[in-house]
Amino acid sequence: MKFGTKAIHAGITPDPSTGAIMTPIYQTSTYVQKSPGDHKGYEYSRTQNPTRDALQANIAALENGKHGLCFSSGLASIDAIIKLLNPGDEVIAANDLYGGTYRIFRKVFEKYGIKFHFTGMHDVSEFEPFINENTRLIWVETPTNPMMNIIDIRRVAEIAKKNNLLLAVDNTFATPYLQTPLDLGADIVMHSVTKYLGGHSDVVMGALVVNSDELKEKLAFLQNSCGATPGPQDCFLVLRGIKTLHLRMDRHCQNGEKIASFLKGHPRVDKVYWPGFEDHPNHQVAREQMRGFGGMISFTLKGDSQDECFRILERFRYFSLAESLGGVESLANHPATMTHASIPREERIKVGLLDSLIRLSVGIEDAEDLIADLEQALSN
Ligand SMILES: *Cc1c(COP(=O)(O)O)cnc(C)c1O
Repeated sequence: MKFGTKAIHAGITPDPSTGAIMTPIYQTSTYVQKSPGDHKGYEYSRTQNPTRDALQANIAALENGKHGLCFSSGLASIDAIIKLLNPGDEVIAANDLYGGTYRIFRKVFEKYGIKFHFTGMHDVSEFEPFINENTRLIWVETPTNPMMNIIDIRRVAEIAKKNNLLLAVDNTFATPYLQTPLDLGADIVMHSVTKYLGGHSDVVMGALVVNSDELKEKLAFLQNSCGATPGPQDCFLVLRGIKTLHLRMDRHCQNGEKIASFLKGHPRVDKVYWPGFEDHPNHQVAREQMRGFGGMISFTLKGDSQDECFRILERFRYFSLAESLGGVESLANHPATMTHASIPREERIKVGLLDSLIRLSVGIEDAEDLIADLEQALSN
């Protein structure tokens, strides 16, 4: 089955009791048993729910994986992955990642005795020296947020395999339409479903996809034991949103290309970060592991003034100033004070996350209108 067909059909079967073509919202907490233990596979909705099951199967199919698990947020799904580890274990993570991921690693799990190393991963030689007998997991986000670096998943996976480490990839920015990390050797794919998979800025949710039955058992145990599961309404909304993922992503990619090129030619703009440019440092890797370059773009202003940057953000008409990304509408964000405020300034500056950096989530509106909006905001 190809991608668009899977987006619409995978995991979806007409409701057995009525034939309803759309998976019903099974708004129930519990299920009646005929005799203790004699039930239809459902006991309690934290453990299983038919609406959630359909979504989990659908996301797993899109990622070319065997098992999907949904959580009440992207962070809850990250939480489950780190709970696979024990005190004394170590994690190697890319140094340019979502602020909330950095925060849960450093501020929540460090005090339970798990050690995190943050390093560049453009070149695998950068992180190999951090591997020791306590290392258990490598954490990769690619494209990275907000610097749009590209990490070579296949190369990292080879090193992970050689050293018997798990490799988890946060695939939120690329989505399975553009990149399927399990096919490149990753063990766990993680999503903030809140973003492109949901696609309509109306749900907060997370998901994991794995191939290993053993990993699935462990993660399902954590999903049920810790209890950060999504409700059926939210699962329904994501099932509806995901049906157009391929169409939306095509438009995000087309608009992304037009806007990245426009920004690159603008006299007030200093650097534009977008993996589709031939002079992007890992453009070749992006070409090999991705099927398109997406609609996430970051740029800095000449002079690097935060004040000037704020004035531009205030002038946008179609780009709404907001956290989050991946919805049909365009958003602009100031990472230094918004999504990435939890990362110390020295750390930020080291990776190029300057005070004038603006991150755009280019939506699926008409590119001409979006460019006109950028033009007026930048020209004042
Ligand atoms: C938003 C985001 C997360 C966190 O997901 P939530 O659904 O907000 O909990 C993790 N990784 C990336 C790349 C994100 O953009």
